[in-house]
Amino acid sequence: MSTLNVEEILSKMTLEQKAGLCSGADFWHTKAYEEIGLPDIMVSDGPHGLRKQEAEVDHMGVAESVKAICFPTASAMACSFDRDLLHEVGDALGEECIAEQISVLLGPGINMKRSPLCGRNFEYYSEDPYLAGELGASFINGVQSRGIGTSLKHFAANNQEWRRMSISAVVSERVLREIYLEAFRKVVEKAKPWTIMCSYNRINGVYSAENKWLLTDVLRDEWGYEGLVMTDWGAMNRRVPALKAGLDLEMPSSHGETDKQIVAAVKDGSLSEEILDTSVRRVLNLVANAIEGKPKEKTSYDKEKHHALARKTAEESAVLLKNDGTLPLKAGTKLALIGAFAETPRIQGGGSSHINCSRVDSALESFREYDEYSVTYAKGYVTEEDQIDTSLETEAVNAAKNADVAVIFAGLPDAFEGEGYDRTHMNMPDCQNHLIEEIKKVQKNIVIVLHNGSPITMPWFNQVNAVLEMYLAGQASGSAAVRLLTGKVNPSGKLAETFPLRIEDTPAFLNFPGDHNSPVNRNEVSYSEGIFIGYRYYDKRKLEVQFPFGYGLSYTTFSYDNLKVSCQKDNGSDPKTYQSGSGDVLSVSVDITNTGDVSGKETVQLYVKNFIGLENRPEKELREFAKIALAPGETKTITFKLTDSAFSYYNEAAGKWFIESGEYSILVGSSSRDIRLSEKLAVQSNDRLPFTAGDTTSCSDVKLFSKKPELLDAFLQKSGFLPSPEMNGEEISDADQGLAMAMFADTPLHSIISFSGENLTCADIENIIKELNEAEQN
Ligand code: BGC
Repeated sequence: MSTLNVEEILSKMTLEQKAGLCSGADFWHTKAYEEIGLPDIMVSDGPHGLRKQEAEVDHMGVAESVKAICFPTASAMACSFDRDLLHEVGDALGEECIAEQISVLLGPGINMKRSPLCGRNFEYYSEDPYLAGELGASFINGVQSRGIGTSLKHFAANNQEWRRMSISAVVSERVLREIYLEAFRKVVEKAKPWTIMCSYNRINGVYSAENKWLLTDVLRDEWGYEGLVMTDWGAMNRRVPALKAGLDLEMPSSHGETDKQIVAAVKDGSLSEEILDTSVRRVLNLVANAIEGKPKEKTSYDKEKHHALARKTAEESAVLLKNDGTLPLKAGTKLALIGAFAETPRIQGGGSSHINCSRVDSALESFREYDEYSVTYAKGYVTEEDQIDTSLETEAVNAAKNADVAVIFAGLPDAFEGEGYDRTHMNMPDCQNHLIEEIKKVQKNIVIVLHNGSPITMPWFNQVNAVLEMYLAGQASGSAAVRLLTGKVNPSGKLAETFPLRIEDTPAFLNFPGDHNSPVNRNEVSYSEGIFIGYRYYDKRKLEVQFPFGYGLSYTTFSYDNLKVSCQKDNGSDPKTYQSGSGDVLSVSVDITNTGDVSGKETVQLYVKNFIGLENRPEKELREFAKIALAPGETKTITFKLTDSAFSYYNEAAGKWFIESGEYSILVGSSSRDIRLSEKLAVQSNDRLPFTAGDTTSCSDVKLFSKKPELLDAFLQKSGFLPSPEMNGEEISDADQGLAMAMFADTPLHSIISFSGENLTCADIENIIKELNEAEQN
């Protein structure tokens, strides 16, 4: 078994070797210093398969890589809502890494889907940080259970491809904390990834690679991260400031150029060698972990078994979007399989995650194993360009005419989405939409099977009978689709992102991807929609959507009963009041029954409906989920446990997570817009926001936040500012008095002097401010 004595190696290293170790040897390796017993290690993309390049190298997925298993991409896998499955996939990938002598798999990517147009959304899980964090953690725990590292990416706010290497995300701390960092925080806490890959972009003007707040203050000091941070490929800007900020490893490298800057900075005293040593230690620890117990030669893994897992993952992830009973396809049906994707499915996206698949199942080929269906095939359209091919279309229309059901495989070709470029619209190619319209003229039974990495518009939706969303479902996509269509497997995926009706409805529509036309602002994108992305936005705006977050049908149905919400407390106080900060655990249980005729799986989702008091908050947020399998008639009870994080938000002024006292609701449902059961809950919080009075502090601020609001009453009495119960001898009605109070509630303390006749002096104003602030100290 190989081991490495980190401190011993470090003590033998020269300054030049230390600086050198903090950048790659080549595209995929760390440096080896054999003279002091330090081997190199190899890293590879990731995330839904292994892209190990042995000869030519690139980060665009162009040059050949070794054959590997292509699992469904992240946007598909996330729809499984299945932590165990993600763990299993991670574990299988860890095994492939061992076989191919890869030490770190570069993934998963857990960036939020701010806009459906981000070209790389197929590589990301969700618009919801809780879901992305949970699934990312399971995936990483799977890979790392094999003694293989991962690289959680892209840290952070890499939510578009346009100008990804220079754009600055202009985004508030609250929004970062609640949305764009939250999944990373969860993964760091639950899975301790060996490495984290920083993003290319800047955040509020500072490159992620040299962002000390991000890489040290938050990631290490607050979250306790102990692993290594590497750059995305070519994301280094200024090497010495980056090292000081907490960036350990530059990848791939700058062929020694930036290493020299480190050496010079140590020599001239502008960089302490201790900082360099800290990063060197992290690289050495990574190498030590990587080589421990690993075979010296390549080994093999069971490709068939991994292919079967890829198929299971595709099946668990596919989302049935519509079904009028046409699915599952009845035995004896004459099928017309239409569309190029039936023969050559689009199974993954382009760019650095592109896998050289060990094999690819097509639906056409898979249907041949089913004697109970007679199948004809017509290609229908081309994928190389968006042009109607009249002869292909005519052939497809004829095939459809002579069948009982037309199953049309459609979606987005590679050119429509991929790494390095964003989409400009959500449409499928016109030629495919046209084909569907033409087929509708001759065939009344139409099933659409979709291959796309991100949401699309469906102008034909009302005219078709069923829609099965496969996403980019990996190398077993075809056989998985057939098993789902024929009912061998019951669909159970739920959307991990909203499908909006129109791009104009989307949260970042006005600010994505930034201002193309301005020479001044081209490097900035404003996240002005704030925390309201995905369902947080559509719910708040009460907008209709094509399909809501968490939505997905099944061939069976489920009932939800018997919701029980109770607080587990030591002191036996009111079980319907949750006391934050006291160790209370809220227990939520619900009975789920399969009320149909076939076995199926349901993902039960728990949202907390927020109390909306001081801060603008989403209507509801996903706080738990569980996927369960049920036989017909079977009932299972699910129990969730919630603690403080289920109710808190990030209060930027206070610089901390905060819980407001008020009435919240526990919502349990089958999707974010199909809430089946709910119960109200009082949340009591003793936490206070810090309050400092000043002359612009308003009367209502004092009432809401001061520890001694009664000081204001005395002050207002003295000022004569408060309306007295009578005026000119006449009684003032309660309504008028209330109105007067409301009008004056926003009056700042300093302005009261103008309404006080001669009752107040400036000294009185100073005095009340002093008294209010003194009260805070006690
Ligand atoms: C991508 C990363 C990838 C790296 C190495 C970059 O262009 O953004 O996700 O891991 O290349 O291929």
